[in-house]
Amino acid sequence: MRATVIHAPGDIRVEDAPEPKILKPTDAIIRTVATCVCGSDLWPYRGLEPVGDPHPMGHEYVGIVEEVGSEVSNVKPGQFVVGSFATSDNTCANCQKGWQSSCLNREFMGTCQAEYVRIPNAHGTLVATDEHPSDELVPSLLAVSDVMGTGWWAALAAEVKPGSTAVVVGDGAVGLCGVIAAKERGAERIIAMSRHESRQKLALEFGATDIVSERGEDGVARIKDLTKGIGADSVLECVGTAESMRQALHAARPGGNVGFVGIPHEVAVDGLELFFSQVGLRGGPAPVRRYMPELIDLVLSGHIDPGKVFDLTLPLEQVAEGYKAMDERRAIKALLTP
Ligand SMILES: [Zn+2]
Repeated sequence: MRATVIHAPGDIRVEDAPEPKILKPTDAIIRTVATCVCGSDLWPYRGLEPVGDPHPMGHEYVGIVEEVGSEVSNVKPGQFVVGSFATSDNTCANCQKGWQSSCLNREFMGTCQAEYVRIPNAHGTLVATDEHPSDELVPSLLAVSDVMGTGWWAALAAEVKPGSTAVVVGDGAVGLCGVIAAKERGAERIIAMSRHESRQKLALEFGATDIVSERGEDGVARIKDLTKGIGADSVLECVGTAESMRQALHAARPGGNVGFVGIPHEVAVDGLELFFSQVGLRGGPAPVRRYMPELIDLVLSGHIDPGKVFDLTLPLEQVAEGYKAMDERRAIKALLTP
């Protein structure tokens, strides 16, 4: 089969690789219908995270089940499935509490930009749709696999409530899905922080009511202007840099909440400042599996359309161009078709 391998920063290739096999009775093999490049894939691509030995890439996927292990009974060959980037057995103590991304048997996906993928913990990870979705719905179902699930989690972690004001820091795919989530959860005012016209447009389409293009303390000052000087009820931090986290913490009002879902890179939180801010802080990898049934229904009913974040579609063979376009911010998110 063909599979994506990163060799070094900026060096992404599609190569021949052996087809994955069932290794454990809890595994499944899927044939990918669509996969994509994640903002977090850009960290090693940009050399901001060590690459190490050449290794496969990709953790977002939808596909058709090819084969299942003997202990997998909830999905069967031929079904269309969606799965999370973090696999989970869906039965352990953490899963039962709804924290599937901290499953005691968790394995992170990392081989999905390929024609076939082995899914560990398939029974607790994959959710099948009743029938094969139409082609138009595939991008939005793929978004559920990570970015929509993560945006949803950001809104929950930031405790977005009906009638509240939410700020979204970050105009990547997760931030844009965070706008959808804030709207679905009833936020009355949704302020998207974005400097890019195409992303501002999509944010407005997804339900943002205001756009703030300033960054850093200037951006915070604009948020204060828009919120009677006190800050927002909820802030969704969807980037993961020191600057974006500072911006998020400073944009929240006393008693407000920050949901941080961008993977932190050199982020340090000042304890004394956090103490006096009275801002609640919760984040981490999204327990996407918890939200998948609900989000899949919202997509299939046409209620949400997070697939619009994919503004570039390429054959898998051109995955390198997908990374490049996202790195250069020519594309929000690249969808790959094997
Ligand atoms: Zn578990």
